[in-house]
Amino acid sequence: MSKPPVNRRIVFASRPKGELTLDAFRLETAEIPQPGKNQMLLRTLWLSLDPYMRTRLYETDSYMPGVKLGEVMVGGTVSRVEASNHPDFHVGDVVHLYAGWQDYTLSDGSDVIVKLPPGMNNPSWYLGALGMPGFTAWYGLNKIGKPHVGETLVVAAATGAVGQIVGQLARQQGCRVVGIAGGATKCAYATSQFGLDACIDRYAKDFPEQLAAACPQGVDIYFENVGGAVFDAVMPLLNVGARIPVCGLISHYSGGGMSDVDRLPGFLSKALFKRLKIEGFIIFDHYPDFYAAFVRDMTLLIESGEMKLREDVIDSLEAAPNGLIALLKGGNFGKVVVKVGD
Ligand code: NDP
Repeated sequence: MSKPPVNRRIVFASRPKGELTLDAFRLETAEIPQPGKNQMLLRTLWLSLDPYMRTRLYETDSYMPGVKLGEVMVGGTVSRVEASNHPDFHVGDVVHLYAGWQDYTLSDGSDVIVKLPPGMNNPSWYLGALGMPGFTAWYGLNKIGKPHVGETLVVAAATGAVGQIVGQLARQQGCRVVGIAGGATKCAYATSQFGLDACIDRYAKDFPEQLAAACPQGVDIYFENVGGAVFDAVMPLLNVGARIPVCGLISHYSGGGMSDVDRLPGFLSKALFKRLKIEGFIIFDHYPDFYAAFVRDMTLLIESGEMKLREDVIDSLEAAPNGLIALLKGGNFGKVVVKVGD
């Protein structure tokens, strides 16, 4: 991959209504910026694609301000220092930050989340298992789900970026883990490679019945990644004292999954009678307190071979819009990363 003579960047071009389509994005080129005093020029090596990106295209802010029309799309990256006027960053250093969907960006270092260990063989893991999705899985499971040996945990999107880590961590802590995924291939992978006890295809006609059969002792932890029909199928299975880390609701992000029936009274009755603990969390709140401990834990698990990782690699920046559209519909198989440069 040769270095582009210009800065390719993908900007937010038009606000999608409902499902995301290609016309939401536009590829532009601009001059490569020059670093000023205390700045560095960063070259994007890897870009992460994540479900939250759909929520940044809303007209109203979600938990973070949205991307404005004409702005470069937001995105986590692994980037290399190409030129530096900053005392703490040197040419060749590799860092993780949110540089967005583009080849180059300037940084004064304040937006750098972590400097990668020198010579790291798999830098893209800092966008997956060692980055935001892995941290989300670790935090949501350990700090909210609080698993105990012998309990049953259910997680959907079980082969995705967050789900693959949740399932394996919960297995390691002695839970019976039942995954949910889209299709037989993903389900077979979840049991054979990630070691899940069972995995149910969410497209199966009798999905709720299959899920119930896979959880004979009920459900103690429901790691909520998706909402919608999966949520409906899990609710009747919840045990007294079940915990629900509310991590994501991808089935609703493009406006789908909302029924005409108000399900809130039924859900609140369930919360009362079953003494449920339901806690939403946004992982960006927890970096100062827990990210370093998480990276230590996860590095050990990966190095010992106890944590298996699956990435879904997209081979060019130009293909990122299609990659995000596919991800939102379950077209990915693993943590989605885009190879932008080398
Ligand atoms: P994934 O890599 O798991 O990709 C998304 C997956 O969601 C798809 O592959 C698909 O899996 C599943 N999916 C898509 N549409 C539906 C649907 N209608 N019903 C059920 N499943 C669906 O994404 P991530 O692991 O990155 O994210 C998982 C969830 O975690 C998302 O909701 C995301 O927003 C949330 N999240 C929250 C964070 C926080 O701070 N709270 C941080 C990071 C992620 P399949 O086809 O296999 O079912």
